[in-house]
Amino acid sequence: MRRKTINVSVGDVIIGSDYPIVTQSMTTASTLDTEASVQEAIKIIDAGGQIVRFTAPNIKEAENLQNIKDSLRNKGYTNPLVADIHFTPNAAITAAEIVEKVRINPGNYVDRKKFEIKEYDDKTYNDELLKIEDRFIPLLDVCKKHNTAIRIGTNHGSLSDRIMNRFGDTPLGMVESALEFLRICNKNDFDQVVLSMKSSNPLVMVHAYRLLVKKMDEENMHFPLHLGVTEAGDGLDGRIKSSLGIGSLLNDGIGDTIRVSLTEDPEFEIPAAKKIIDKTRILNPINKDDHRLSEYHKRSTSAVLNIGGDNVPVVLSSSNVLFEGNGPDYFYNEKELINNKNERFPYFYSIKEYRQSDNKSDIINFVSLNKETITNSIMSSMPKNVVFVFDFHDNETDFRGIFNFFEKQGITNPVLFKKSYKEEDFEKLSIDASIDFGTLLLEGMGNGLWLDSDHHHERINELSFSILQNTRTRIFKTDYISCPSCGRTKFNLQETTALVKEKTSHLKGLKIAVMGCIVNGPGEMADADYGYVGSGKDVISLYKGKDLVKKNISSKDAVDELINLIKANNDWVEPLI
Ligand code: SF4
Repeated sequence: MRRKTINVSVGDVIIGSDYPIVTQSMTTASTLDTEASVQEAIKIIDAGGQIVRFTAPNIKEAENLQNIKDSLRNKGYTNPLVADIHFTPNAAITAAEIVEKVRINPGNYVDRKKFEIKEYDDKTYNDELLKIEDRFIPLLDVCKKHNTAIRIGTNHGSLSDRIMNRFGDTPLGMVESALEFLRICNKNDFDQVVLSMKSSNPLVMVHAYRLLVKKMDEENMHFPLHLGVTEAGDGLDGRIKSSLGIGSLLNDGIGDTIRVSLTEDPEFEIPAAKKIIDKTRILNPINKDDHRLSEYHKRSTSAVLNIGGDNVPVVLSSSNVLFEGNGPDYFYNEKELINNKNERFPYFYSIKEYRQSDNKSDIINFVSLNKETITNSIMSSMPKNVVFVFDFHDNETDFRGIFNFFEKQGITNPVLFKKSYKEEDFEKLSIDASIDFGTLLLEGMGNGLWLDSDHHHERINELSFSILQNTRTRIFKTDYISCPSCGRTKFNLQETTALVKEKTSHLKGLKIAVMGCIVNGPGEMADADYGYVGSGKDVISLYKGKDLVKKNISSKDAVDELINLIKANNDWVEPLI
């Protein structure tokens, strides 16, 4: 049921719908440091990664890929290698003679971003496209000669001025950015192309990929897709964000290779990627006419107490244990749900129980529902103060079909999702739950979640709130965007991200980016409120939104300077001790 694609050969790994989904990662060492790059690549491969990518910011790095490749082959590692290119067509051409795939960013392969606002008439627009052709065709020629594949890797944060002015910072802009290059490939009979549409916002990323598929189908193009959420960060949030974006698309049958970008050592990305692939269940791929394909539509519901209507999604739990000041909105206690004002409401396991009960609440009743009990007559006879708790045990429920049915019948009772997990591995549980609940919330379905598991309740509550945070349906803590780092990073990004988090994690609702390099960092940090961006060896630049406010400060003072900047803009509050 995967979306049918052509096959693209990357060395002896084939990316395409006739083959299993391929996992890959990227090294973080300088590509000039052969030994460190080789060691990182080996760790990725030993963890099960099939393809390894290296940054090649200049020709020198591109040339050194030969030494890295030779060393890996001498050690018996035959996995295909990829060069990651931004801004430097010459480095791309050098690398294409050495490695099996070259990734280019259509936003900056030829264009230099000036953040100019200007009106493009068709002539100016087409002149720029001709300039791209001039610079891109030589790369295609080298790739043809050496059987090198290409990834046209669009990033939400680095669209060209031309695209920004005509299409804006939108999924359509991302798609058009790739199509400009793809059409040149077609014109020149080059078909060994993979595409990606990455964003740090899983919703934008999902919409962009789906739109790309729609547009490619319209132009009879069937290239395979590389999926990823950029700057996902580390730990729990990094895994949740990646699972939401990648999992949503894999469940639609979209995606042929994946990279989970974490601000951690690269080999940790591979087990997470495999767990996301394991969870894939293609049940009812989104229809190309579905209104949720590339726009967010929240299901319209009536509010019952603080559930549904305009309220943020609620968290239910089998325990009222708080974590860091946050606890569930409702917790379960022997047949009742108790809210945080200590009010008690009945919980019914079935519609039959509810109907026969003399103990109904005038305010709110929770009634458990499953796919078998949904019929027109049952649903439409339910009073307005009933909140349905959709208890799902398997992955076989067609929620899109069910919510379309609700919409058609005008049923507006809120719906909460409940699922019990036996999974012992917390990483796997986080990934499974993010895909189960998060992908539904990303499509505007559901008014809350109830995640039941034997893991410690604090961890479960944190996971539940974090799923809501990463779907951006309920913000309860600081949001972090941090890149995975690569050979361009000249400071310890993992340690710095941990330090920034330690000092700022009480700033609820603020979005802070920690980015490895000045070349891509400012563009890729998307809509962050503050940016901490590496601008050289142990020097940092600080941003307020898109504006550079402090340049080249020593990394040892930079976190304090970041706090001063937040204070100067009145976004700082003192942490509770
Ligand atoms: S933003 Fe991070 S991952 Fe991207 S190129 Fe710069 S250092 Fe590398």
